[in-house]
Amino acid sequence: MQPLKEISVQFIKGVGPSKKKLFEKLGVETIEDLLYFFPRRYEDRTQMTPLSEVKPGDTLTVTGKVMARGARQSWYTRKHVYEMAVDDGRGRLFVVWFNQPYLDKYFSVGTPVVLYGRVELYKDRLQMVSPEYEIIDKEDDLNLNMGRIVPVYPLTKGFSQRTMRKVIYRCLENYLPELPDVLPVWVRNKYRLPNIRRSLAQIHFPETMAFQESAHRRVSFEEFFLFQISVIKRRMSIAGQQGFAHRIGLDFVSQFAGMFPFPLTGAQQRVIREIAGDMQRDYPMMRLLHGDVGSGKTVVALFGCLAAVANGAQAALMAPTEILARQHYQSILTFLSGGPFADVPVELVVSGLSKKSKEEVCRRIRAGESKIVVGTHALLSEDISFKKLTYVVIDEQHKFGVQQRALLSSKGASPDVLVMTATPIPRTLSLTLFGDLDVSVLDEMPKNRGRVITEVFLSENAPEVYRAVREKVLQGEQAYIVYPIVEESENLNLKAAQTMFERFQKHDFNGIQVGLVHGQMKRAQSDEVISRFKNNELRILVATSVLEVGIDVPNASIMVIEHAECFGLAQLHQLRGRVGRGRKNGCCYLIADPSTDDGRARLEAIRSSTDGFKIAEQDLLIRGPGQYFGRHQHGLNELKFANPATQIDILELARKEAQEMTHRDPDLADPRHIPLRDAVKERYPTYLSHIQAG
Ligand code: ADP
Ligand code: MG
Repeated sequence: MQPLKEISVQFIKGVGPSKKKLFEKLGVETIEDLLYFFPRRYEDRTQMTPLSEVKPGDTLTVTGKVMARGARQSWYTRKHVYEMAVDDGRGRLFVVWFNQPYLDKYFSVGTPVVLYGRVELYKDRLQMVSPEYEIIDKEDDLNLNMGRIVPVYPLTKGFSQRTMRKVIYRCLENYLPELPDVLPVWVRNKYRLPNIRRSLAQIHFPETMAFQESAHRRVSFEEFFLFQISVIKRRMSIAGQQGFAHRIGLDFVSQFAGMFPFPLTGAQQRVIREIAGDMQRDYPMMRLLHGDVGSGKTVVALFGCLAAVANGAQAALMAPTEILARQHYQSILTFLSGGPFADVPVELVVSGLSKKSKEEVCRRIRAGESKIVVGTHALLSEDISFKKLTYVVIDEQHKFGVQQRALLSSKGASPDVLVMTATPIPRTLSLTLFGDLDVSVLDEMPKNRGRVITEVFLSENAPEVYRAVREKVLQGEQAYIVYPIVEESENLNLKAAQTMFERFQKHDFNGIQVGLVHGQMKRAQSDEVISRFKNNELRILVATSVLEVGIDVPNASIMVIEHAECFGLAQLHQLRGRVGRGRKNGCCYLIADPSTDDGRARLEAIRSSTDGFKIAEQDLLIRGPGQYFGRHQHGLNELKFANPATQIDILELARKEAQEMTHRDPDLADPRHIPLRDAVKERYPTYLSHIQAG
């Protein structure tokens, strides 16, 4: 029998080439995909509420027959209106859809329908507007659509719920018996988890919602468990490597601390001690540094660089964009100048160097003449090799994949690695999710920082915001105005920034120097615009979200974010972090028309707090982990069903069990653990490359 992830959905009866295409749109190609294609909600159709008992305000499922239907045009809004009256023998309900003329094809008098939606009172009658509907006149030989708890799937146009249910039902019938369980029996017994076959059956066609819940727990447990095992294994492999033990004296530490024009914050001192401790050990450091925007991560990163140099070795710092790399390079030069480390050679490596100067740069690095090497992913190029690299910093880790991190590290012999991120991760989660990294937190802002006030405006009030910005800019301040970019419609959004830029020059900000940067500009061009903004030649910078990370312009104190509802919370917080970096107070204007409760909740969260950790926690709750952490990161996007924000109890269980199991059977070599080991390997290949090797 072939593995289920190699069998196409086309092997299921009723799935031909056209259905296969639709399935592809839904991300379903194989039998395995389909088994794990979960309903987005359920409807309890065991007992329908009679229409005579339905009340305004209820959101529910009802059923009945179409008594009358027809289309008209609203004389007021000019919209196409399709109306229907439904009767179940005990009461009557009216249904309306707007601008969906094709509906007429589906319904005739006498058609039995199921409707799901919110009931309201309109002109003294009960009405549902644009409900979800199903027609149930065709035969239902499998009894999948009525008289039970019914799954409702996320669908695409051309696919009906009825068809999907039938296909999934057949799929379960044919393939479920083949499905191996990767969780050992004793683990399932210990935590009272149903086996995988029963779980998937109960998730698709639950007998009771309690069964569905325990099935869902089981699937989440499995995901967390595999993830935790991979994390622990990776950690074990690091602890087994031979690294470089740096010697770090007290005089070095105090020389370092005395080098800056400001006292280090308590948090900076603490984290530097943590890093120094790691660097002195003879196995490699793997440390994650969280620090909110502006908490002073560069200073901390520099400590390890200089410690490596003091030990006769080299350090590398990799940033996700050229702007950031240059900025790090500049601030390091500034920090070093005039101090005890003034003659440490610092190198900048970005793409687009001329062949000759690139050769020269490579030579200096290879010869060990360059001590601190700052750069973009250009550092990963094969031409770059170090004489002796013992310390690596990776800034803004969520922009890099695990692979790229490993690639940079491989340029040294198990160097110490510090990964820095400005995306704060709730404390309750970081230990569990980043079990392969030690975690340090910069939880204290430098003193003498201004405060940032955040206000939210509807787009109709945007001109008010522009007036306020104009006034402040005329008083000497600088402002950012940011527009979102959505990948699919990049051009459309680009136009928004471009059009507004032109409008600003002519109207709102005429007489003021305004600049524009966006992602599709040539690098040299956008660098120039940004540096003119830094030099205060440009007073207002209109930008797409390329600003998101790291730009440091202390004089800029105003941040306007248009279509703020399109940004994630963490992104908004990052953007806002661009202002209030000097001593001055800053202000942040969010212009948004949120259309959902989530949208409103997010804006309120950002308005009412400037604590990155609190905001992160909110974000995680509102959006779930996948989107919050973005792609690539830590295999977290592998978590499809489990949500660490809402299922922390299951996560804890899975973590404990993973620890115990890997303690007793580190290589998962026990025959009962083989399916588990194979599943972990398959799902987290980068994590477990060392197991495959060994
Ligand atoms: P992050 O990368 O964490 O957002 P940076 O390292 O860019 O923060 O630091 C932000 C600004 O704060 C920089 O201009 C830096 O020189 C300054 N800074 C760093 N540490 C301190 C401190 N202890 N006191 C005052 N200013 C500091
Ligand atoms: Mg930074």
